[in-house]
Amino acid sequence: MSNSPPRDRGRFGADTRLVLAGRDPSAQHGFVNTPIYRGSTVLYPTYDDIKHRRGRYNYGTSGTPTMDALCEAWSEIAGAAGTVLAPSGLSALTLALMTCVSAGDHLLVTDSAYRPTRIFCDGVLKRYGVEVEYYDPLIGAGIAGLMRDNTRAVLVEAPGSQTFEMQDVPAIAEAMHARGGAVVMDNTWATPLLFPPHERGVDLAVEAGTKYLSGGSDLLLGLVSANAAYYPALKRTYEHFANCPGPEDIFLGLRGLRTMGLRLREHGARGLAMAEWFQARPEVLRVLHPGLPDDPGHAIWKRDFSGASGLFGVILKPVSEEALAAFLDGLELFGMGFSWGGFESLVIPFDPTVYRTATRWPPDGSALRFHIGLEDPEDLKADLEAGFARMAAVG
Ligand SMILES: *Cc1c(COP(=O)(O)O)cnc(C)c1O
Repeated sequence: MSNSPPRDRGRFGADTRLVLAGRDPSAQHGFVNTPIYRGSTVLYPTYDDIKHRRGRYNYGTSGTPTMDALCEAWSEIAGAAGTVLAPSGLSALTLALMTCVSAGDHLLVTDSAYRPTRIFCDGVLKRYGVEVEYYDPLIGAGIAGLMRDNTRAVLVEAPGSQTFEMQDVPAIAEAMHARGGAVVMDNTWATPLLFPPHERGVDLAVEAGTKYLSGGSDLLLGLVSANAAYYPALKRTYEHFANCPGPEDIFLGLRGLRTMGLRLREHGARGLAMAEWFQARPEVLRVLHPGLPDDPGHAIWKRDFSGASGLFGVILKPVSEEALAAFLDGLELFGMGFSWGGFESLVIPFDPTVYRTATRWPPDGSALRFHIGLEDPEDLKADLEAGFARMAAVG
């Protein structure tokens, strides 16, 4: 075996590509990984070289071999023309949106979007003269009815943050492209491994690398991949902001990439099994997981996705706040905190009734979001059973 990676990697499966992408040991004295390049200044050998900015690297913000390794690997995995990085998932989202809307434009945003995305749209984008309109995530091809002469982009997210509605992304993309606008997707839940965004009509796909790329709850990182039509504009916008993550964080992203497929499969299988377990519990009203056959989004999920990750929602039958607190406060294995995608199980309470504007979320029970980690499933079930017993004791 040569110490250069095989070319023409399209013939390989996704796990093989995760192992090979974005590294070339022959260019690193045989070392397996691309090292951490720290740097601002890049020296040019001659006057003529600096005058013409000759050379692959010009300055630390616009690219380093470490940055290129992750961007190239991600583009390969996502089927993209190019990728840029950001220091968090939210900053990647803002970069994707800033790439395709300008003052006077109309932007359609799913009512199920990640909440900080809404806050950015309602704050910064509105302040800069963009008209932001929220739409029903289930609208599908009906999105055509909301389009105006100045509609420039649509933001989709599937499944929705917290509420897990599936969106018909190909239908929305077709309607948007008929008008010449851009489709931006927050693809964090599925990653390109479970939903190939650009193949399904997405122009700019955002991933919070903080989640499954990291896999360790030890990293903040964002990625935006783009198809050939949008990559030049994305790269330009990236360079205007120069909002680049630090080299150690990029390196941790590369490290996470190698095992992301394996971890995602485990999180997905354990998550689905736990969703089924919740469905059978008498305390539970509904489980929000598109992988469940009776979920309203199941048909779209089956058509467009090749798996699930480990994040889903549970609506408990109405209980008192004291009973809910008794359930949550005594959990030993489920941490209570934001973010997800790490090796550990998490839970948060949420209330979609307070922020949705285009649709009404029924206030029919207490909503919890679970991330299923890599602990033994039987231990997780025992922890939850003890929680339900505490809840019943409060009444
Ligand atoms: C966490 C998350 C983000 C933001 O990622 P950060 O790195 O925490 O900024 C964006 N979208 C979704 C769906 C997320 O869950």
